[in-house]
Amino acid sequence: MLKNHSLFVVTDMSRNWLIKQADAVFTGETHSVNNPVTDIRIHNGIITEIGTNLTPLDCSNEALASETIVDAKGCVIYPAFCNTHHHLAQSVLKAVPTGLNQGLGEWLQSVPYRFWPKMPAELVYLAAKMGLIDMLRSGVSICADHHYLYHLHSSSAVEQAIWQAADELGIRLVLCRGGANIIGSHKGMRNMGIEPETLDVTLSRLQATKAHYHQDGGDAYRKLVVAPTSLIHSQTPDQLIELAAFAKQHQLKRHSHLLEVGFDEQQSQIKYGMSAIDYVESIGWLDEEVSFAHLVQSNDTGIAQLGQARCTMSHCSTSNLRLGSGIAPVLAMQQQGVNITIGVDGSASSENASMLQELNLAWLLHRGQGDATATSVDEIIRWGSQNGAEFFGFNSGSIAVGKNADLVLWDVSSLRYRGCHDLLVAPIVAGEPATIKNMFIAGKEVVNNGQVNNVDYEALGEQVTASLTALLKEI
Ligand SMILES: [Zn+2]
Repeated sequence: MLKNHSLFVVTDMSRNWLIKQADAVFTGETHSVNNPVTDIRIHNGIITEIGTNLTPLDCSNEALASETIVDAKGCVIYPAFCNTHHHLAQSVLKAVPTGLNQGLGEWLQSVPYRFWPKMPAELVYLAAKMGLIDMLRSGVSICADHHYLYHLHSSSAVEQAIWQAADELGIRLVLCRGGANIIGSHKGMRNMGIEPETLDVTLSRLQATKAHYHQDGGDAYRKLVVAPTSLIHSQTPDQLIELAAFAKQHQLKRHSHLLEVGFDEQQSQIKYGMSAIDYVESIGWLDEEVSFAHLVQSNDTGIAQLGQARCTMSHCSTSNLRLGSGIAPVLAMQQQGVNITIGVDGSASSENASMLQELNLAWLLHRGQGDATATSVDEIIRWGSQNGAEFFGFNSGSIAVGKNADLVLWDVSSLRYRGCHDLLVAPIVAGEPATIKNMFIAGKEVVNNGQVNNVDYEALGEQVTASLTALLKEI
């Protein structure tokens, strides 16, 4: 166990609220300036009523639980976001100079693979805490962390650090359990002398994580996903077939990087004599239980196959631009039936670490490629919330009676938003900086007036600096 961090004390907050008089609410069902919803009632972490002029419950009646009234004037309310691809450990690897102007292959060697084998659990914990605070501050209630810091001799504390950080902040975590099973799957790993897990070790560790952490239900806080780091480079076909079988046996979703750059396609042709998409299909990794990060270099044939299989993809525009990888053809994918979601990717290649900015960029980017009708705010919010939440099996992502109370009150009362004719779209079209007045996950308040609850920012910052300085002395 990591040492007890007394700086982060979770208080047991009320889960019953009546949110009143929002300027506008995006329910996820429809978007209209005449949307009548202004009030939302939350009881025991679930949305129990939406409408207008909802009256507070008579709390003198002891049979009824008390509820706290939240004044939402000057706010627009969205469902909280679901970030479908992150690498939380990279939160302490932002703007590493040697990797700043490198493409993916070289950057992997200069940045993540150079540091992660030496990162102690304590630093991984602090990085996860910082990364998850970035998520909460930008409206995320579900964060999928593609965590690949595993090798034959790695400590279970490195994984435990991520679960612990999420627990303490009250955010829902999907651990996409990565790693490689072949020696030298990347030259960066080879150069660091990393000995990969055997498949047996991976499977037994997966089994332990599943038993200890994973929750099946739609109200879960913790989910496990089987997520080898790269389908083309990290495992043999037989190993991937076994990992898929494990996932199916345990009813777990699957995830991996794919076609972030053209190298995947080239290697698939060289190693397997077929396209990357044909290859993943041949090993049973192309179906509706699978999501892929990036897919930047998908061609028309591959897009049709991905759509036919009803795959999910995680669109990580900022990272793809930062590394010069390109722009994923998500509109074509959506047209073919691919489920589009949004990821911020790790902060080592996406330094802004803001889900809201990622959505703002997605809204703009595809207009630049097509025309001003290419994207709509409604659709972008669904990419950023409902599509990801539903893929992972959460009862979140929209605002409706019976759904998890995972929602965000965006403060649009400041001067920055004066003159805006449609406040409902303001957070997406205006992007960062933006402030959350209140954010709830399962009805618990996790952000208040822009600050994540129960965090001593200054102390955390000092701990990060001290721990990172110690690591740098070893590199
Ligand atoms: Zn990634």
